[in-house]
Amino acid sequence: MTRPAQAFIAPGAVLGVLGGGQLGRMFAQSAQAAGYEVVVLEPQAGAPAAQLTTRHVCSAYDDVDGLHQVARVAGAVTIEFENVPAAALQWLERHVRLAPHAPAVAVCQDRAQEKALFQRLGVPCAPHAAVHDAAGCATAAAREELFPGILKTARMGYDGKGQLGVQEPAGLEAAWRSLGGVACVLERRLDLDYEISVVLARGADGRMVHFEPQRNVHRDGILFSSTSAPGVIPEGAAEAAVRAARGVAEGLDYVGVLCVEFFVTRDGRLVANEMAPRPHNSGHHTIDSCDVSQFELQWRCLVGAPLPQPRRHSAALMLNLLGDLWFDPQARQREPDWAGVLALPGAHLHLYGKHEPRAGRKMGHLSFTGPSLAEVEAAARAACALLGLAPF
Ligand code: ADP
Ligand code: MG
Repeated sequence: MTRPAQAFIAPGAVLGVLGGGQLGRMFAQSAQAAGYEVVVLEPQAGAPAAQLTTRHVCSAYDDVDGLHQVARVAGAVTIEFENVPAAALQWLERHVRLAPHAPAVAVCQDRAQEKALFQRLGVPCAPHAAVHDAAGCATAAAREELFPGILKTARMGYDGKGQLGVQEPAGLEAAWRSLGGVACVLERRLDLDYEISVVLARGADGRMVHFEPQRNVHRDGILFSSTSAPGVIPEGAAEAAVRAARGVAEGLDYVGVLCVEFFVTRDGRLVANEMAPRPHNSGHHTIDSCDVSQFELQWRCLVGAPLPQPRRHSAALMLNLLGDLWFDPQARQREPDWAGVLALPGAHLHLYGKHEPRAGRKMGHLSFTGPSLAEVEAAARAACALLGLAPF
């Protein structure tokens, strides 16, 4: 199904974003560059996106007054955070143009629903079982093919939070209880060769464009690096991932920017992991490596502008900057060596305006662009040495 093309919202209009974190900040930076104003709904004063606008509605996501204020001024609204309560999105959708649509976001809020969608669309995913209660634990424990496994909360997980490894069936119920006894999904731990993701954008008229997939490395469940360059992903896998991601967007009748994460297993299978109904950390390099970024595509989808097929003009490697970098080995606070990092070729520093560094907190990212993979890798390795990051 495709919807009719939507009326174009011209620059000068106000665009709304639910959530005031770094994704909302980079959305605002891109939309503001094109002359749009941005209203941010975000409960926390001084949040990264709220710093950029005088139009900060400081309220909870499900506060009807706050939603009213956004719907009154904004010509269209998007999200930077998928865990906005479904009821708030449904309310907004009745009052203002919203992309992505509430039902698509609802699927992305729940790992069990995501996996059901992948299966319905014929996109392979890891063997898994829903675990909601003690009886569900017993049923899943009887399925040998799910072990060794990873138990994940169905909702609200991010950066590896809400996950526990479960080696054996006997440990499942205790793991489920220690995750709070909430709805979970148990999935088999796969033997990964590497991880990739596809970021795409789909307009209200059903037209779709995508970025080349990037190769992602996680450390302790948190994205460490994303690399986008010719040759980093075997062609067959890249094509299959793009095809699958486009199928998912079509299957959801999705409007907006969507990211689908995939595993490639050691035996060469492509497996969908999860998806995000918004720009994604693994796509941050597009700001510096492509002629149109994932954030520009986000506002283009929202205002009903044409979606150009992005062109990658540079190889790129992005490193996440976690709060850990602000502490020396004796746990004393320090400022990372930005001057040293900025002297490296092709360095682009993005800091999110977060004032309190904490271990594991995403404070910013650093993208390196250059003519070849070898050059961006060399610069990124030098940055790791300067910042005290373990080498890759
Ligand atoms: P999050 O929402 O925290 O990103 P993910 O499900 O993407 O959660 O898991 C985070 C990371 O943990 C993945 O990128 C991958 O490195 C690892 N991981 C997750 N599930 C599996 C699995 N079934 N097999 C192997 N590794 C996994
Ligand atoms: Mg993930």
